[in-house]
Amino acid sequence: MNPVAASYLRLSDDELADRVGEALGRLANCDLCPRLCGVDRTAGELGYCQSGRLARVASWHAHMWEEPPISGWQGSGTVFLSNCTARCMFCQNYPISQMGVGAEKSAEQLANLMLRLQRQGCHNINLVTPTHWVPQILEALAIARQKGLVLPLLYNTSGYDRPQTLRLLEGIVDIYLPDSKYADNDAAQRLSGYVKYVESNRAALLEMVRQVGPALIMDKDGLAYRGIVIRHLVLPNGLSQTPDVLRWLKENLGQGLYVSLMAQYFPAHRAVGDTALGRRLRRDEYDEAVAALHALGFENGWQQELSVDY
Ligand code: SF4
Repeated sequence: MNPVAASYLRLSDDELADRVGEALGRLANCDLCPRLCGVDRTAGELGYCQSGRLARVASWHAHMWEEPPISGWQGSGTVFLSNCTARCMFCQNYPISQMGVGAEKSAEQLANLMLRLQRQGCHNINLVTPTHWVPQILEALAIARQKGLVLPLLYNTSGYDRPQTLRLLEGIVDIYLPDSKYADNDAAQRLSGYVKYVESNRAALLEMVRQVGPALIMDKDGLAYRGIVIRHLVLPNGLSQTPDVLRWLKENLGQGLYVSLMAQYFPAHRAVGDTALGRRLRRDEYDEAVAALHALGFENGWQQELSVDY
């Protein structure tokens, strides 16, 4: 088999069907994310994420602005899934993540979206905010694979995931794109509504690395086909505890990790007018974050230019 073929092509039909069945079974007493709501999503009950039995999709397109090995030259086939397991005050996508903008899709329809992105020439399928939709994604993937989907699968997440759920994706997800947002649970709760984000995030990152390794592996054209990139959005006023986040990553996952240090913060949603979050990142704040990255010896990854100089 082609070494860059998507991992899920190696699973037998029976193995994939077992994963789909197990994942769908979890919807009846939903424990997919660390909130452990226990609601029956198959019977119309809604938990914190307000997500039901059918996947909800806000948009899908070729995304040119992910990290270069992800977007390549023809774009990453991005599927923006609706709803979220958090309530970030500053979420730039809050109509999709917190107001439910999007439309319900059957497994067949979600599979067809993936296949359409493949026909457009996208390099991969990039599932954004997938945590609460893992069963529906697996259900759609089984159909899409039968109809010829071969692209690598990306799991693009806030990093508020459970290892027990991620294990359903072992040998299926090719590239993990998790955030590591905070190193302090109080800040994570206050700014994003997370409960126990730090331990949940760290356990999830360890499980992802166990599955795909700590590196990002690219083909001869520089396109990523396996591995992990960890993203960290630097918030103003030290609210993302950047040095502590980076230190844990280095000590536990190694300095060869690909880290994407993001400077693109701007006040959106409930951050507008907020004393601490109501301004863009200053240049000196981002420079400090980059200095922490370098001091820890990280060798791989990406930094951004500030779009406005403060
Ligand atoms: S996925 Fe949604 S319903 Fe399930 S535990 Fe998480 S927040 Fe609750």
